[in-house]
Formats: sequence, C-alpha cells, structure tokens
Amino acid sequence: MTESEVLNDVPKELFIAGAWRPASSGARLEVEDPATGQPLCEVADAGEADALAALAAAHDAQAAWGAHPPRERGEILRRAFELINERTDELAMLMSLEMGKSLVEARGEVAYANDFLRWFSEEAVRIRGSYSVSPNGKARLLTMRQPVGPCLLITPWNFPLAMGTRKIGPALAAGCTMVVKPAKQTPLSMLALGQILSQAGLPAGVLNIVTTSHAGAVTDPLFDDPRLRKLSFTGSTEVGRLLARRAMDRVLRVSMELGGNAALLVFEDADLELAIDQTMMAKLRNMGEACTSANRLYVAAPVAEEFARRLAARMEQLRLGRGVDPDTDVGPLIDAIQRDKVHELVTDAVDRGATVLTGGGPLEGPGYFYRPTVLTHVADQSRVLTEEIFGPVAPIVSFDTEAEAIAKANDTEYGLMGYVFTSDLGRALRVAEALDTGMVGLNQGVPSNTAAPFGGVKQSGFGREGGAEGIEEYLSVKYVGIGV
Ligand code: NAP
Repeated sequence: MTESEVLNDVPKELFIAGAWRPASSGARLEVEDPATGQPLCEVADAGEADALAALAAAHDAQAAWGAHPPRERGEILRRAFELINERTDELAMLMSLEMGKSLVEARGEVAYANDFLRWFSEEAVRIRGSYSVSPNGKARLLTMRQPVGPCLLITPWNFPLAMGTRKIGPALAAGCTMVVKPAKQTPLSMLALGQILSQAGLPAGVLNIVTTSHAGAVTDPLFDDPRLRKLSFTGSTEVGRLLARRAMDRVLRVSMELGGNAALLVFEDADLELAIDQTMMAKLRNMGEACTSANRLYVAAPVAEEFARRLAARMEQLRLGRGVDPDTDVGPLIDAIQRDKVHELVTDAVDRGATVLTGGGPLEGPGYFYRPTVLTHVADQSRVLTEEIFGPVAPIVSFDTEAEAIAKANDTEYGLMGYVFTSDLGRALRVAEALDTGMVGLNQGVPSNTAAPFGGVKQSGFGREGGAEGIEEYLSVKYVGIGV
C-alpha cells in the first residue's frame, strides 16, 4: 500500500461506545511527520465532555464485559492478533509515518505489540482463585479474582502500538473496560488498533479511544468521577508523579511505567563483539527514544578505549533518513523539542570536557534528525549521565572495579533497566542481584519479552506489564469466608 492509502484507511475520529465520532467541539488535531515537519493528517481533538462520554460508555459496558466468558474474551484477542498479523506492513508504515522509526523497527514493534494480544488471549482463561481450610478448621476460605473495573490507560509516543497493547491486552483479558488516551504526536496507530479490535468482535463501549491535544485538561475530570477505578500510565516520571497524586484523591488502583536511566556495564571479561552488537541495539533501538535505552555506558578501563572506538565505527555506518525509506537505519527524533534537548545534553557534556568520537550534533534541513553520537571522558556530573537522554547518544565512562561499576550504575533516582556484559557466571549473578532495577539484561541488549514482567523500581514506577504478573494489575482479589 502507498503512504496515502495507509493514511486514508485509518479512522480519524474518537472511538466511543462502538462508534467513530468527531469531537463535540468539532476541533481537529494535526499529526506531523517528524522526518519532514510536514502535516500528515488531522484527527479529532477531544474535549472534557468527550472524555466523560468515553468513561460513561466504559462504565455502561463493564458489567456485561466482566461477565463475558473468559474463553470468548480470549478469542476476540486472538482474532485481533490474526488481523494484525495480516496487516503488519500497513501498520508498520503508519507507525513509521507518525513516529519516525525505520520500517524494520516498526515491523518489530508491531510483532512485539501483537504478541501481548496473543499472550493475554491465553491468560484470559487462567484467572484463578483458591479454596482452603481455615487454620482452626471452623471455616473455609474462598478467594476469587474479579475485574478491577473501568480503566484509564495513558500511553506515550515512543512505542505507539506496544505501549497500548501491553495495557489493553491484560485489561481485556481480565474483563475490564477502558478509556485509552494515546499521545498527541502518535494517535494513528491506536486508532487503527481500535478499528481492528472492533472488527475482531469487541463489544461496543469496552474500548474507547480519546485523542486530544490537551491531555491534562481532558483527563483530569475523569479522576473525580467514581466510575473510574484504575489508572495505568506509561510516560515520564514527572507526569507520572502528578497523575499518581491525582489518582490517590480517589484511591484508584494505579500502575506506573515511568522514565529510566539504564546503565550498561561491560566488564573486561566480556565478549566484546557481542557487547558491541548488543549495545548498538540497547542504545539505538527507537533512535534511543526508549525508557530502557542504555543511557550510561560504564566500561572496564582495560577495554574502554577499544570499545568506544569500535562502537563509534559501527555508528558511523548508520544511514539516517525517513523511517519509511527502506534504506533507513535511524529515523528522526519525535520533535524539535526532543532534538534540542538531546543537543543541550551533548553540549553540556562537551563543555565539561567530554570528547566527541562521532556525531555530536543535529542534521541540517527538515525533520528532527540527530547524528548517532559517542562521547568519551564524560565528567560524572554531566547532565547526559543524570538525565534520560531519549536520543542516539552513548556517553562512555571507564571504571576500575566491580564495586565501583555497581555503585555508579545505582547512582540514579531511576530503576528500570540495567545491562551487564561479562562471561564470568559468578560476576553476572552478583551484579544482576546488586543492580537496583526492575529488570536486567545479561549479555543481551533487548531483554523485553511478552512472557516476562516489565517494570521498574524507584522513580521508574511500580506495577508490571506482561508475563504472568501483567493481568494481576487488572484484577482485584475478593475473599469469601464460609462458615461450616
Ligand atoms: P509524557 O510527556 O509523560 O506523556 C505520556 C502520556 O501522558 C502522553 O499520552 C501525554 O499526552 C500524557 N500526558 C501528559 N501530561 C498529562 C497530564 N497532565 N494528564 C494526563 N496525561 C498527560 O511522556 P512522553 O514524552 O510521551 O514519553 C516519554 C517518557 O515515557 C519517557 O520518560 C520514557 O522513559 C517513558 N516511557 C516509559 C516506559 C516504561 O514502560 N517504563 C515505556 C515507554 C516510555 P500528550 O502526549 O498528548 O501530551
């Protein structure tokens, strides 16, 4: 399909109570191509009344969806999985157009996103309770798991489909209804997903999608509405803190997938070729715009120089371009704000004495491109080490001892992901245990896996998505005491 056919095929309205409808104000929101800065299309720009209508629809659908046979809930998810498989190329192009990532990466995200629908189609029929005899023998204890109720799911722009299915999959499997609010930069993938789930047989009102240019004002009234029972948020720690506080006003169930500042540790006993290959992925996947992106590279002093030189050589081979161009390895950053922030961090590091081995600046011309960059001799207090970069910049710092590497890795308010490269099993386990993170990649640059629990500690949030744990976020345990 051509770009314009793919764009024409996507619904551009709000999805509420099973119908596509314009914002009640008639307002439109422009979606831009980050590779050119040019508009792609417009979608509905919801206001407060639309968000409340979406919550009303979710509330009205909750009782029936919660009582829907788990097998049928699973089969709807499975049908959506099959439909997405058939439409992978088209969805990848759509995602690439609105977000900028290369087609190869976009296809990878479609597959990853879709796997959550398959995984949770299987989990829908494995929601268990328990039955036991009370310790004094005089009662029986029954527990059951029930859907939490209508959810508000807020997703970021960096993985427009996967951050949605990682929430929508388990919520649907558990029997919850929902209002989904995608990021304003990338609403199209979510709208396409809504269309597919509807084609797969999802009843009206179970999933509602609200696209808007003013997220705060539109979602805030939902927090005062007793029909809302849960918030699941993926995004920055700053916004997450604000929303967690707001959710506590009504003691909502909350899951938070927030920012990261992952350290990647390369020990002198590591397989250097493997470490470089995997670092390329840990750093450059999604142009570095991933919460799990390797933000700080700590490399053992004896191999630090060679590692930096070889990593820079690999980065120099990458071709920058529009994601939808089949020759592109690295796409643009999402917008001018993000590109300028990345450059600010690089400039700060250079001002403090860092050496630029490759890259070091944005590309001239339209679009928000930043050249893949390797920095060495980076001073400890440089912002590039303390803040989430969200760009293709690899700051390298050398270390002398294992204890020093662990201390440096843990010296951050974040705790999402850590990477360890070593061929010493004892060291691998010691370091994996010592890292203060929710996840660790051991000799692996992209450990994310549908069947594993994804999530952080410290300021990276709480709750887990995927794995056997993912569905628990959408279930409440009820205990029934039975006298005998
Ligand atoms: P963001 O600015 O926090 O936005 C995330 C979502 O929240 C967007 O849909 C945004 O809407 C919405 N939002 C912003 N302010 C809001 C408010 N006051 N009330 C309600 N919703 C609000 O984050 P981002 O820049 O899109 O995404 C990047 C961040 O996400 C990074 O920090 C990254 O680490 C994190 N992330 C974490 C994970 C994880 O699993 N831990 C995964 C991916 C990304 P608008 O876009 O329409 O403003």
